[in-house]
Amino acid sequence: MTDIIDGNAVATDVREGLGDAIETLSEAGHTPGLATVLMSDDPASETYVSMKQRDCEEVGIESHHVELDPDAPADELYDTVEDLNADDAIHGILVQMPVPDHVDTRRVLRSVRPEKDVDGFHPENVGRLVAGNERFKPCTPHGIQKLFDAYDVETEGAEAVVVGRSDIVGKPMANLFIQKAPFGNATTTVCHSRTKDLAAHTREADIVVAAAGVPGFVTGDMLEEGATVVDVGINRVDADTEKGYELVGDVEYESAEEVAGAITPVPGGVGPMTRAMLLWNTVKAASEQTGVDVTL
Ligand code: NDP
Repeated sequence: MTDIIDGNAVATDVREGLGDAIETLSEAGHTPGLATVLMSDDPASETYVSMKQRDCEEVGIESHHVELDPDAPADELYDTVEDLNADDAIHGILVQMPVPDHVDTRRVLRSVRPEKDVDGFHPENVGRLVAGNERFKPCTPHGIQKLFDAYDVETEGAEAVVVGRSDIVGKPMANLFIQKAPFGNATTTVCHSRTKDLAAHTREADIVVAAAGVPGFVTGDMLEEGATVVDVGINRVDADTEKGYELVGDVEYESAEEVAGAITPVPGGVGPMTRAMLLWNTVKAASEQTGVDVTL
């Protein structure tokens, strides 16, 4: 029997689990606050930001939104981040990526105060994660860790293959896998577009995390019997639906499910966890910035 890992259910548990902490912070006069900054008219980015705002409202986090004209000078974005850094009501800042070409992405990531960097992308926070002394775990790998906890997926001594080496998913995922216990202790391989024989790696893996952005490219014949398969991919493919497209993962679900011991579906797997962990990181940020102790 293949376990279908229910990201919606685990994400609901995570969000409900934040309730007491948010109440404690609010009663102390420090309602957690998350600022989202959007400098794009890309419909997908607009959707992501509005989902994040809605998530905040649902759990009692104050959501502040700043929208900048994509053609505005880059300084407007840098100045906005500085203002949010200085605002005590804001505990987390999220600048929706990608930003326009005339904006220096690295400068934006560096300019968010590390204590408010709930995405975990500031170089200081990346360094701390690598050193095993993390402040914020990036939301997607953090969410995958929570799924593993919820479904008792053992990483200790496991062979883990991460397909993709992006700064937001692949690298931080691999960094979590190689940490010492409680989560980690996996022997970890990171594959990418220059990997010579991808299937030779995935066939040896107890855990495969697919984060390449290529629809359905991990197929059942690339997997070891009983492997845990985590599908991070969210890809729009043309389809005969009302919107004219559907969302599919990086894993070919039908063939992979026959072989896997556990698998995350798309949608309803990793996606809801990424959203939930942003809330979790924001509550952690609020607690640390205000000194109000909460249990997370
Ligand atoms: P990037 O495009 O930044 O990185 C993709 C990575 O996959 C790169 O390292 C690339 O290699 C590698 N890759 C691409 N094609 C292949 C291939 N054929 N074989 C092996 N490796 C390959 O993507 P992201 O990490 O940002 O996102 C990956 C996917 O996850 C996307 O579908 C995205 O939409 C989704 N996503 C989902 C989230 C969620 O919450 N579920 C959150 C974030 C992203 P190279 O470095 O050599 O180019």
